Amino acid sequence: MLEKLIKTGEISIFDSARSCEFGKRELWKVDVSTSAKNCRNFIREIVDTLDLQPNPTKPVIALSLGDPTVYGNLKPAPEVTRAVVEVVEEGLCNGYAPSTGYESARAAVAEYLNYDGVSYNSRDIILCSGCSSSLELCITALCDGSRGQNILIPRPGFAIYRTLAESIGVEVKYYNLIPERNWEVDLQHLEEQINEHTAAIVLNNPSNPCGSNYSEEHLRSFLEIAYRRRVPVIADEIYERLVFPGKKFVSTASLFSEVPILVCGGTAKRFLVPGWRMGWIAVHDETGAFEHVRKALVSLSQRTIGSNTLIQGALPAILQYTPDSFHDDLAKTLALHAQIAFERFSFIRGLAPYMPEGAMYMIVEINLRCFPEFVNGLEFCKQMMREESVFCLPGECFQIPGFMRIVLTVPQEILEEACERIAEFCNRHYVE
Ligand SMILES: *Cc1c(COP(=O)(O)O)cnc(C)c1O
Repeated sequence: MLEKLIKTGEISIFDSARSCEFGKRELWKVDVSTSAKNCRNFIREIVDTLDLQPNPTKPVIALSLGDPTVYGNLKPAPEVTRAVVEVVEEGLCNGYAPSTGYESARAAVAEYLNYDGVSYNSRDIILCSGCSSSLELCITALCDGSRGQNILIPRPGFAIYRTLAESIGVEVKYYNLIPERNWEVDLQHLEEQINEHTAAIVLNNPSNPCGSNYSEEHLRSFLEIAYRRRVPVIADEIYERLVFPGKKFVSTASLFSEVPILVCGGTAKRFLVPGWRMGWIAVHDETGAFEHVRKALVSLSQRTIGSNTLIQGALPAILQYTPDSFHDDLAKTLALHAQIAFERFSFIRGLAPYMPEGAMYMIVEINLRCFPEFVNGLEFCKQMMREESVFCLPGECFQIPGFMRIVLTVPQEILEEACERIAEFCNRHYVE
């Protein structure tokens, strides 16, 4: 039979083995999974369509990159760098760790998060490859696409929640944040979005892109709804304690509600080492509601056999020996940059900045009626790049058209230069 096929040219001798097994199949046709097809990078998709072209006479200023290390002005604490060097040299962390992380590293994270009356122990902590990976585990553990479940995420909000949920077939529903109230959650809108298929609510505090920092009272009102409707919370607290001087960060877990919460965090932002890919999940569960979820998280962590062991080995030193002054200096720098940007933007006709209280970003509203030349904020940002070589992420990337996000981590003189160019651009296009 095979000989006959080869003779008649139905199959070539080279893939005869495969053809035997699968019947006639000459050309490779390798399809990808639904999960892969549904995995989209929404920021990339939007930015790519803009076909950005800077003005060749002006150096590019990227106020768009949420990576605090790009301009080199913000460096990790020397204690942090030394801790990693020592671990590499000792050579004791080259093997596999348990998939949830070394006991010593998890205990160090528990210790680090135990303030304001919270008391985690190492069993409550799972180490992950960055906070993104923590979020992935939490969403995958709680939400089931095949059962038609949905997840509630903030609008405006960080794009990765949608990427992670939709790639496993989970429906995304948005709850609004209110600009005039420092981007607090629109609690009524939140409650209206919850239905019997809602598997989790994501809360991001302090927020990317808003820079908001919620009060204890507001967090309690939020938790009250989650409690009443019995929906667990995923709290993305990657900017935990990264708030401006005089502001207080309140962690959701410190409020001792009966709401089970998976708190996600990591070293990326507060320690200025996003490339090190160290994140964690802290399981806050006073009622035992998460009994199965704990096991699920452990199982899911085994898919990738855990996070980088060198950083795990250094984690106790990183978390204990970074001086408070390092965190204070970072907060002061960001607050100063926010102040500078806020003042400059306040004087630009057609723009309205929102003063942040934490994280690394500021939202600026573009009053498009003052710029009739541009049909939307995307065109505004695109043309600003063309003329001034300044790029900010348009609000569309965070589900709020008509706004843009600026990053506050760039050096002060670059920020000032950017503000100047943005002012010139706006003046040039402003119409009464
Ligand atoms: C940067 C960021 C993350 C991701 O942090 P990694 O540890 O780098 O994965 C998660 N959530 C928000 C809101 C962020 O801004």
